[in-house]
Amino acid sequence: MFDNLSDKLDKALHVLKGHGQITEINVAETLKEVRRALLDADVNFKTAKEFTNRVKEKALGQNVLTTLQPGQLMVKIVKDELTSLMGGDAAGIDLSGNPSVILMSGLQGSGKTTFSGKLAGFLKNKKTKKPLLVACDVYRPAAIDQLHVVGEQLEVDVYSDRENNNPVAIAKAAIAHAKTNGHNVVIVDTAGRLAVDEQMMTEIANIHKAIKPNETLFVVDSMTGQDAVNTAKAFNDVLNFDGVILTKLDGDTRGGAALSIKSVVNKPIKFIGTGEKMDAMDVFYPSRMADRILGMGDVVSLVERAQEQFDEEEARKLQKKIAKNQFGFDDFLNQIQQIKKMGSMKDLIGMIPGAGKALKDVDVDDDAFKGIEAIIFSMTPEERTTPSVLNASRKKRIAKGSGTSIQEVNQLLKQFTQMSKMMKMMQGGGGRKMMQMMNS
Ligand code: GDP
Repeated sequence: MFDNLSDKLDKALHVLKGHGQITEINVAETLKEVRRALLDADVNFKTAKEFTNRVKEKALGQNVLTTLQPGQLMVKIVKDELTSLMGGDAAGIDLSGNPSVILMSGLQGSGKTTFSGKLAGFLKNKKTKKPLLVACDVYRPAAIDQLHVVGEQLEVDVYSDRENNNPVAIAKAAIAHAKTNGHNVVIVDTAGRLAVDEQMMTEIANIHKAIKPNETLFVVDSMTGQDAVNTAKAFNDVLNFDGVILTKLDGDTRGGAALSIKSVVNKPIKFIGTGEKMDAMDVFYPSRMADRILGMGDVVSLVERAQEQFDEEEARKLQKKIAKNQFGFDDFLNQIQQIKKMGSMKDLIGMIPGAGKALKDVDVDDDAFKGIEAIIFSMTPEERTTPSVLNASRKKRIAKGSGTSIQEVNQLLKQFTQMSKMMKMMQGGGGRKMMQMMNS
């Protein structure tokens, strides 16, 4: 996410971070570089200029030149300004109505249907919400099919009417359907076109007028850069939407849209899409995004993801096993599965402070665990629970069965032994013992 921008900002600020003596000249030079980095990321010219002016004002106001750690203060000022540029606090969505109606708008291909599904899944997980997805694209039968596929996958009901070519009527009938069927959130997916045109704008404006949504969301592909901002303006003029959904942030986006949209249309980014899978979305937190852009990671999101997957009952069972020295390869496999549920490896690594940058060119794919899993799958139940039985001939068999080498099997065994030891020590409150082990 925003690798290029992160790199350039890092380089720009590096000069100040390392300098013993900071002068007004190198502050000005740094800000010039910061502005260049923003422009390269496709940030709107006016936004970039105002941004650096504000940073400069703050820097001079706080007397950066006379503080003990001017580099750090500059980074903080840039971080705060990036956060406020992207909207300051996280903005929620209005779910007050019964049903609360959410209207999705945006160009074709922006990710509307995918995000409608993601949002439905997200709300469904909140237990108190029973969403209904509504297909209002009367031009492309495939779009209706797509929504039904998404609905089936998420086990969320979908309302469509292939006989009707009036989207306003469909949307209204869907809301009535929701009321009689106990759906308390209605997500209306609408038709998009490849570019902004009058007919599409009139149609969505009519739907908007007729159903008076609690939330009108504008979905935009973050890879489209400056265009994203122009499209946002056009839709906002007609719909006065409530928030923006920025999709495809997992791709090689330069980040311009994320940084310019708020200042151009004055509407917050509410969610981001980070992949094609139905759970690849996040609430947008400006300050966490600023941290990520500045290579500071996003520990808060990482911990939250871990907590979402954390199962107290499982954890207790695991603790007992560790205490009794019964931690085996099946448990190891279980742990891997839990980690995998937290998201893609690249995404997770990006949240670790410093790691994103250090590992930026390392190709970590989601198959990282495949070899390990294959090895474990090739073990017999006995070998999984009692790894000590693994002699040379068994290892040879496992390597062959899993398509790996004996070295790889040995390496996994070594890692497993170390991990078991470490867990045992942590269990016994042996923080000190562990320190000794690490130092030895
Ligand atoms: P719509 O025409 O606006 O409804 O767009 P779709 O929901 O059909 O999405 C268009 C394409 O973008 C599909 O291939 C989606 O799988 C893909 N897509 C949507 N959101 C994301 C995202 O956050 N990341 C990635 N990588 N692909 C996405």
